[in-house]
This record gives sequence, structure tokens and C-alpha cells, in this order.
Amino acid sequence: MSGAQGSDLNRNPPRSGRLDHAEGASVPLHSRVREAQPRGAVINGDQPINQAEAAERFMAAPEHERMHDARLWDLRQKRDRQMHGITEWEDLRRLASEIKEHALTHLDHYLEQFETNARANGIHVHWAQDADEHNAIILSLLRDHGVKRLIKSKSMLTEECGFRDFMAESGVEVVETDLGERIQQLDDEAPSHVVVPAVHKLRSDVADVFARTLGTDPNDDDVHYLTEQQREKTRPLILDAQAGLTGANFVVAETGTFVVCTNEGNADLSANTPPLQIASIGIEKVIPRLEDLPVFVRLLSRSALGSPITQYTSHFRGPRRGGELHVVLVDNGRSERLGMEQFWTSLKCIRCGACMNTCPVFRRSGGLSYGATYAGPIGLIIDPTFNRHRYSSLPFSSTLNGSCTNVCPVKINIHEQIAGWRRVLAETHELPLMKKAMMREAGHLLSHPALYRAAIATADSALKHLPRFMVYNRLNTWGHGREVPAPPRETFHQWYAANRASGQGEPS
Ligand code: SF4
Repeated sequence: MSGAQGSDLNRNPPRSGRLDHAEGASVPLHSRVREAQPRGAVINGDQPINQAEAAERFMAAPEHERMHDARLWDLRQKRDRQMHGITEWEDLRRLASEIKEHALTHLDHYLEQFETNARANGIHVHWAQDADEHNAIILSLLRDHGVKRLIKSKSMLTEECGFRDFMAESGVEVVETDLGERIQQLDDEAPSHVVVPAVHKLRSDVADVFARTLGTDPNDDDVHYLTEQQREKTRPLILDAQAGLTGANFVVAETGTFVVCTNEGNADLSANTPPLQIASIGIEKVIPRLEDLPVFVRLLSRSALGSPITQYTSHFRGPRRGGELHVVLVDNGRSERLGMEQFWTSLKCIRCGACMNTCPVFRRSGGLSYGATYAGPIGLIIDPTFNRHRYSSLPFSSTLNGSCTNVCPVKINIHEQIAGWRRVLAETHELPLMKKAMMREAGHLLSHPALYRAAIATADSALKHLPRFMVYNRLNTWGHGREVPAPPRETFHQWYAANRASGQGEPS
């Protein structure tokens, strides 16, 4: 699953009876002007990421913001249509959540069961405690087999592990086979979305990247031209690679097999072209039985792209004849997260991206503004488990509207966990001094009702009478690009005192 935003998703209107697939029934998106692509968050060592600053730069590029918002909202609407077409949708969500919670609370058992059955199928199973171990295991496999070039399908876990950079330093060329991920690789950028890695790019951005790296015509941003050029330049590299790496969407304990879902068939290309196949898999991907799988397959693509199923749902059962298959099961902080009472259910995530597509902050600020492997609502609750200080500002990049929780196919209480992280960060002194002082004042105000009412009355009166420049100025960053709502004629308390306190209109 991949894509660059602003592509001619559908030049022709949908024919009747056509599937409401991600690539069908979309409103055509055209950029009005060529505009430079805004870059993501500035990474400054271990300093807290300033998501707001990067988001501001993204919003200052109106074509990018408009297309990003429209493309992701389109996916959200398609997801809704698919959901309404399945009467048992809520049952599926509940079941998926229960299966995941059961698997996670019996993780040791199911991982061992998978290992035993996978070995019986002829798969070599390795265990990696962290990113370094993951990278070292794979490098050693590649060196043992004399591999100089590895082809790879999209895997967020390898992003977590800094795999591409590590391989480049070790002298192994990595070629991405997912189109969106390949665009990002050529542009030396991380994926901005877990499903559609280049969704923040306009067609003109992709034309620029390909012109710079593949020598294509910089003025031709026709999607067919760009795709064909990319295929022609990359296909020989793929055919000549000595090893292929994929991730996995699901690992089935009872069969010792794993499943990869893509729309481009690129995982199959990575797995089936070279003789050495490797799969990097997070330990939370395990599910107990094969009969559990359809629950997730029915939810995944509908939630992600609004299509009934991915084009390819590939089951890998063992090595090809004459080949080798290695699975690396990776922890990288997952066991620790499993022990976090408030946050362990974030491990249920199946990386569908629906919470990103629905999030108003994500849609308008772009995934790279988060400066982390995982962006959007799921990122806000996962990233601080990797580095609490660096990602301390991220849980504040949310309106807490709960839409992410509503669309999550595995029923993760995302917005509650975001609020939980805010509490934890305040308790562990990870907030900037200004925010801390403001929270202290807000806490004081909210715990003194008389003071609160007086402050509201003063603010309402000030908003009514102050000249505009006193409200909208450099100091009021909230008001940049937003209007403060007009103050009501009376506050709720005034209304209540007038209409209810006297007993009038009391509900019977
Ligand atoms: S948290 Fe839920 S909605 Fe978000 S990516 Fe994960 S499974 Fe999808």
C-alpha cells in the first residue's frame, strides 16, 4: 500500500458496480500551483521535537496542506462506507480486540508455539532484543551469503531500527520495492504515514525527486510516466538482488506461518525473487489460530484504504525450494510496553493508519512534522515509550476529540492514552517550563469555581470590547490562522441561575 498525494487517482468517474476501492470513486485531486515541499521536524539530538513548528511550515504550504487533508479525508470516508456495508462491523472490532488482548496476555506461549511450528516448516527463527541486535543478525546473515544488494518491502519495524542507514554504513545496498517507500528512499526521507508513505508529496514533488535521482523529465508529472520510469529503473536492481526482506502483518502461532498484505505485490517480489528471504517481525504480531486471521483481514484494508481487501494477502509457510527463509522476532521495547498498565493495549495496533486519516491535526500537519517513526494518534502513544524526553511534546499534538478511538479496528482507547501520557509527562517533569506554569495556573483556576466564573466573565467582556490587535498578536500563537469564537451573550452559569436555579423548567 503506498502512494503520492495528488496523483490522478481517478480521471474517470466511478462506473456503477465498481468497487469503492482506494483508487476508485475518488474526487480527482489537482494542485493549482507548483509549490516546494515542506520538510519535516528538525531533529536536534535528544531535544524535544517541536511538532508545532514543523506543522506551521506544512500549513504555510497551502497546496500541500489542502491535498493532504483531502486525500486522507477521502480515505476516511471510504472507510466509513465499507464499515456501513458490514452489519457485524462492531462485532468484528470487539472480536479483533479480544483476540489481540488474549494473544498479548499469553505472548510467551504463542511466540514459543510459533517458533516450534515455524522451525518444523523449515524456517530459521532468530530473536532480537533491540534494534541493534536486529540489524546485527541480518547483517551477519547477509555476510554469510555474500549479499551486496537487498530488496525490501515496506516495514515500519525496520524504520524503528534505523535499518537502511545501518545497511548503508555496512556496505549493503537496500532497494525499496513499495512505490511510496521507494519515493521516500530516493528523497532521503522517512515514510510520513504507515500505509501511504509518500502521501504528503504532490505529483510535482515526485517529478522533482525522480528527475534528481533517476534522470526523468522534471516537467512531466504524469503518474503513468513517473511510475513506468521508476519501474524501468528499479526492476533490474530487483532482479539482480541476492536477498529479500519483508515485514509481516500477522504471525499465526498454530501453523508457524506469517502473512503479508500489500496492494502492489511488492512483498511477493521481495520474498520470491532472490534465494534468501528474511522477515523482520515485531513480537506483538502473533495471533493464535488461522481461523482468527479473517477477522483482521476483513478489518485491515477496510480501515486503512476503504477497500474490502488488499490486492495481495500472501501466506509464507516455509523456504522456497533451494532457498532459505529466516524470521527475526523483534522486541525493541515491546515487552516493556506490555508491562505499562495504562499503555499496553497500544500493542494491539495493526498499523492500518485509520487514526491518522481521521485526525484533524495529522491531516493538516503532515506525518513528518512528528519527527518520529510513528506519526499521528498511534504515534503519540507509542513514541514516548521509545524516548520519553525527545517525544515529550507529541501527546499535546491532539485535540482529544476521540475520533481516533472511534475508528480504530482493534478498539484501542487512543485518546485516553494520549491524555494518560500528558499526565505521566507532567508527573515526570518532562513539560517545558511555560507549559508547566500554564497548567499550574489552569489547575488553580479550575479548582476554584468562583475564580473560574470571574475569569470567564472577564475574558468574555474583554473579547467583546478589546480592539482586534490586542487579541490577535504575536503572543497569541493559538490565534494564528484561527478565530476565537464570538463570546455568548450569557455564560452557562448565568443561564442556569436564571432558568434552573429558580426551579423553572426543572426536568420532570
Ligand atoms: S491505533 Fe488503531 S486506527 Fe491507529 S493505526 Fe493502529 S490499529 Fe489503526
